[in-house]
Amino acid sequence: MTNFFDITLKELESIMENRGIKPYHARQVYKWVYQMDTADFDRMTNLSKDLRTTLKSMFLFGLPRINETIASKDGSVKFLFSGHDGRLIESVFMPEDGRSTLCLSTQVGCKMSCAFCVTGRIGFVRDLAVSEIVGQVMAIKPHMGENRITNVVLMGMGEPLDNVDNVLKAIEIMEEPLGLKISHRRLTISTVGLVDSLRLVDPKKAQLAISLNAATGPVRTRLMPINRVYPLQDLVAYVKGLGDMGRRRVTFEYVMLKEINDSLEDARLLAELLKGVRCKINLIPYNESPYGSFQSPDDASIKRFQSYLIDRHFTAIVRDSRATDIGGGCGQLGMRYLEDHRQ
Ligand code: SAH
Repeated sequence: MTNFFDITLKELESIMENRGIKPYHARQVYKWVYQMDTADFDRMTNLSKDLRTTLKSMFLFGLPRINETIASKDGSVKFLFSGHDGRLIESVFMPEDGRSTLCLSTQVGCKMSCAFCVTGRIGFVRDLAVSEIVGQVMAIKPHMGENRITNVVLMGMGEPLDNVDNVLKAIEIMEEPLGLKISHRRLTISTVGLVDSLRLVDPKKAQLAISLNAATGPVRTRLMPINRVYPLQDLVAYVKGLGDMGRRRVTFEYVMLKEINDSLEDARLLAELLKGVRCKINLIPYNESPYGSFQSPDDASIKRFQSYLIDRHFTAIVRDSRATDIGGGCGQLGMRYLEDHRQ
């Protein structure tokens, strides 16, 4: 049996066609599931009884199970799921006025070992299936009250481009106009910058955010060992190579760590590195955890760093820290996993 949440509309059409079913039925089913939240063939009243019986023998609707929800003071909610093998998957739902962002995981654990990130401490456990990525959205949907998901960010546990095939398929499903209809402008892939996999991503299909986190090679290598494979210059060259993207711009993320990468000299080096590159810079004050020994710079240092960039005509934004009281901030996901697996 095929898990319905693993397949794109095109795949559904071709599976159905192979069984002699007209493709327009695929579109009807897709709408029921993704737009009318009806993952139950018996309730798809515009399909014949025979067709419903056939479809029931072909597909199942398998979602990750919600084990626990934890609410933050700021209105965010962290969802703890168990995947098909019982492994822990975390997502964070962040409602704001007029928009809501869902932060999804793409792997259990991560191979990248970034020094400041809790998920890196877990090490790599496994890739998430397409149905587990899309499934986080579908499982959370009924728990959102009046809110609608307007933005999706692949910034939870894992490195999206280390699971690129499943991530690209999940994106296609989430953006499908007959499905979840998430706009490509509101769907962000955040990556450490695996340049070879980046080339597989059509920058028109998703917003790209690249985690730079340092302005020099030695500092970046210390923080992100992947810098040995994909150094800063390669990332900058990749973005320059994208050429004219109209009004769209790649975002560079920069985690701010006290006395590591937060000085005015660092700001100067960053401005030099990114000179002439059309981009946005997202400054992310470090979120603390019991598993990391870094500290966040004070507000004045962050402001000074930001002003330096703005004065040189960069778009530089300081990202609001959300959900940090529940271990749901950037780089905090996976604490529960570590607690559960402590020897
Ligand atoms: N692997 C992807 C996506 C997950 S991390 C990536 O690296 O981009 C999402 C963002 O959170 C990245 O920009 C990362 O640098 C940042 N981040 C990781 N740990 C953090 C922490 N402790 N505090 C603040 N930001 C952190």
